[in-house]
Amino acid sequence: MDLYEYQAKDLFAAHGVPVGPRQRVVTHPSDAWDAAADYGVPVVIKAQVKTGGRGKAGGVKLAKDADDAEVKAAAILGLDIRGHTVRRLLVVPASTIAEEYYFSFLLDRANRTFLAMASAEGGMEIEELAAERPEALARVPVDANEGVDLARAKEILTAGGFPEPVLDRAAEVVVRLWDTFVAEDATLVEVNPLVRDEDDRIIALDGKVTLDENAAFRHPAHAELVDTEAEDPLESAAKAKGLNYVKLDGQVGIIGNGAGLVMSTLDVVAYAGEEFGGVKPANFLDIGGGASAEIMANGLGIILSDPDVRSVFVNVFGGITACDAVANGIVQAFQLLGTVTKPVVVRLDGNNAAEGRRILDKASLPGLTRLDTMDEAARTAAELAAKGA
Ligand code: GDP
Ligand code: MN
Repeated sequence: MDLYEYQAKDLFAAHGVPVGPRQRVVTHPSDAWDAAADYGVPVVIKAQVKTGGRGKAGGVKLAKDADDAEVKAAAILGLDIRGHTVRRLLVVPASTIAEEYYFSFLLDRANRTFLAMASAEGGMEIEELAAERPEALARVPVDANEGVDLARAKEILTAGGFPEPVLDRAAEVVVRLWDTFVAEDATLVEVNPLVRDEDDRIIALDGKVTLDENAAFRHPAHAELVDTEAEDPLESAAKAKGLNYVKLDGQVGIIGNGAGLVMSTLDVVAYAGEEFGGVKPANFLDIGGGASAEIMANGLGIILSDPDVRSVFVNVFGGITACDAVANGIVQAFQLLGTVTKPVVVRLDGNNAAEGRRILDKASLPGLTRLDTMDEAARTAAELAAKGA
């Protein structure tokens, strides 16, 4: 889970990383006026969106007083920054920057280790820095068992070309960033820029944190950081119904039983879809073992309400829940849903497949095509999606 800058800075502050004296999140220009008037100093207004490059996109602006803050806030709210609409702003007292640095800790999956990255040339985006001035960016592996103490932090910063006079103070900040990284079970903690201000203080002026959701059970407090507003509405609806659903960007709705089967269904549909102009799966949905009529209806309901969906592929391998029960579930689901306006392709195999198929054939549901093999069914679903597009 990626955090907003203001959430990252709250975590930083909790672990002693200096982030500046105050911050306020606002959603209206008049609240930005209030915040700036309160601070009584020039402020920086910052778009809160979970993407980088806000500065370049016009999402970070300096305001000299409250009136200016209101104008700048109005200009930033509603901006589209790399596909993210700005709905919240952070208002902070402006810092005076003497130097901008870069620092991060991350999980280096490829090398099965943690990695520190440091550069005295901060401010610009890390991808740019890595491409244009790779020699200016130190990449130092961090042993999980040894961690990062002051001495190690100084080594990393020295490798990153940090100037001698700031080493000690910056190293303290780095140790606290490491504390944050470990204590919060983060997979990324990035500060760009980490600055030295004109009073020689080291401050994290920006913050990016990714939390490891697999560790959520250890952090009840992290639940509050979830941004339900920004969640995909279909995923929220599915979650509320207890369904294992992930929205994807294709056109063929997928329902299956068992995560493995659903994953391979995604592959087979994507492969079949190549023939039809690149049709792809629209979602992952595993309805699990006990596919009752209600679960089937809930699943179909969610998928059919997805405006991107042009056809649906129900792929079930009968196991403990036999195919006749699933077939009855599908028939009842059609009844529960009333009208089903998109074509549905069903493949039933496994336990009691013959009986399941007979039930579906007998019901002759409108818009439903029943096929025996996964490949045929995937191809038909992809073809129907392409036709409907
Ligand atoms: P990003 O573009 O999304 O990474 O947003 P940042 O928070 O990093 O801000 C972009 C740039 O705005 C920074 O690199 C700074 O140069 C500038 N900036 C941000 N906060 C301040 C501040 O308090 N004072 C000054 N002078 N500049 C700031
Ligand atoms: Mn930044």
